Order: sequence, then C-alpha cells, then structure tokens
Amino acid sequence: MTTTPPSTPPASGPGAFASSGPLLEVKDLHVEFRTKSGVAQAINGLNFSLEAGETLAILGESGSGKSVTAQTIMGILDMPPGHIAGGEIRYRGQDLLAMKPEQRRLLRGVNISMIFQDALSSLNPVLPVGWQIAEMFRVHQKMKRKAARERAIGLMKRVGIPAPEQRVGDYPHQFSGGMRQRIMIAMAIALEPDVLIADEPTTALDVTVQAQVMRLLKDLQTENNMGLILITHDLGVVADVADKIAVMYAGRVMEASDVYEIYAKPGHPYTKGLLESLPRLDSAETRLNAIPGLPPSLTDMPTGCPFSPRCPYATDLCRNELPELLPIVGQHTSACHYRDDIYHGRLQTPEEAQT
Ligand code: SF4
Repeated sequence: MTTTPPSTPPASGPGAFASSGPLLEVKDLHVEFRTKSGVAQAINGLNFSLEAGETLAILGESGSGKSVTAQTIMGILDMPPGHIAGGEIRYRGQDLLAMKPEQRRLLRGVNISMIFQDALSSLNPVLPVGWQIAEMFRVHQKMKRKAARERAIGLMKRVGIPAPEQRVGDYPHQFSGGMRQRIMIAMAIALEPDVLIADEPTTALDVTVQAQVMRLLKDLQTENNMGLILITHDLGVVADVADKIAVMYAGRVMEASDVYEIYAKPGHPYTKGLLESLPRLDSAETRLNAIPGLPPSLTDMPTGCPFSPRCPYATDLCRNELPELLPIVGQHTSACHYRDDIYHGRLQTPEEAQT
C-alpha cells in the first residue's frame, strides 16, 4: 500500500498525520559534507523503516554515518557544510526533506524527539531542571506555571528521580550523570513523541547505570508505543532492548536483521568482527579481538567493498565490485559478496583454516 502525501503542509501535533504505512521510512538517503579536502560521502544510499512500538539499533564506529543519520532525521544537520544529496525521509508518509524549516521545527520534540550523549552540555546549567522540563509544557501546550511544574514533577518521578518534589529546583550539576540522563529523557518524552532517537544515550555512564537507563527507555517506549532508534557503537548495550539492528560502515548499511539472527548468525565479516570484539562471560580469554585497521576516509573511499582493506576474507572481486545489500534469509540482509558462506560458517580466513 502506498501513502500519498497531502498537498497542503500538515499542522504539527501527533494527530496531524495519516497513520498508514511505516511510522518512519528512510529511502536511498545520501548525505555529503563539502570539505577543503573534497566531498565526504557521509551517507551513501541508506534505507530502513521503523514501526510504532519497534526498536531499531543503528550500530557503527565513529564516522560510520549513524549520528549524521540521526541529525538528518531531526533536521538539525549543519548545512553547510552538510548537504542532502538525495533520498527521502518519510514520517507517517510525509517527506520531511520536502518540508519548510518552520514545519520541521514544529515537529521537533512534539512528533520526533532526540536525546544526546552528553546531558550536561545539553541541559542549561543556570536553570533548575524542573523549570527546564516545565518549559516544554509552557511553550508547547501553553500550560500555566503551576500546572507545568506539577507535570514536571510527575515526569521526574516517572523517569526514576528520587524525591522529585525536593529536587525539582536543583540545577543540572547537582545530579549524577545517570540522573541527568534521566532528566534529558524526561524532556524528550514530555510531549509524547511517537519517534524517539537516542544518540549514544549511555556512553558516558558506567555499566550498571547504562543498563538501568536502557531499561527505562525500553519501558517508556512500551508504555507510549513509540518507535525508538538507538544509535550506538556498542553491540553489547542493545542486545536486550533492540528488535532489529542495522550495522553501518562508511555511510552504508552492511547488515540488517532482527536482533536474534544477527547475534546468532552474522552474515557480514564486519558484524562478525564486532561480535568477536565483545568481552565474553563464558571464556577465560581476556584479550579482545579488535578489528584491525581503521575505517576508510570518507573523501577517499576504496573501490569495491568499503570494508575490503580490513576484511580477512577479501578477494579481487571484493576490491573491484561494490556488494549490494541483499537478502540471506527472510528479512536478514547483508552487503557482502560472500554473505551466504559467512552466514553458514563456510568461509575461513587463512588463520581459521590453519586451526
Ligand atoms: Fe569482506 Fe568481500 Fe564481504 Fe567485503 S564483500 S565484507 S571484502 S568478503
């Protein structure tokens, strides 16, 4: 079924859009940065979709294009130097890239919201946190000061801030990193968006707090039936919360699948390398197998497969022909010429062949 965008711009607000089709759909997105050393291809033909109530983890190393993806969806990419060279981002059937900046601004925080890695620099240091949360209700819902404060206290309670009535007047620096991130989450969900993008939301936190914040995000998502996009460099933190994963490398999706398939049977050497670099509880091996080498320069991409300079299975075919993202089984796709062999464990590196 196709969704025809209305000819007039939508009003903002959760009820202002048609609800057929995916909640969010990214189609053949291309984003470049024009730099002094040339054009950096940050995103090269990205495709994915997100349904209500679904969690998509976008995984990749620094420079893979995952944060640029988030900024492009939110409409906060710096342009210039950024430039959207092609594609569509459809929210409830409406192409966000065709909207006027004012229309995009009205959607932010209301329909599509985002939380960032560093809560301390995202919160205003000179305003009490309760004031900052209440501001969302005062500005967007024209709520009176007292009612907005009550709503802020209620939200602080919902995200797990102890004694919110006493802490509503405290400043960001008076909270721990984990509690500040909860306040950011409270602000992001205040207006009940139906898409929430979390860009490395737990990177600055210790492992126990990371798990708590991830659990909170998942609970809020279930409660509000939000579509959640988790952007991360760490496969370990999304295993319990994601429904599906897109693994990005050099601005492309290398592999996409539901979460169980990708952990059990990766179909791309890059994903396999990422999994092998995770610490394992069932092994005495303490040295981690980091993937050797570095991602390619975005202004000087290798011909053929962008992972070929680091891939232990690379052949001449890989170095000359760009592999397409194609199905292995069901919805599990991989951009590798040897995806079936990797998936079935039939391909061996020279080292593996010797053991
Ligand atoms: Fe490795 Fe070749 Fe697959 Fe690229 S196409 S990931 S170089 S085996």
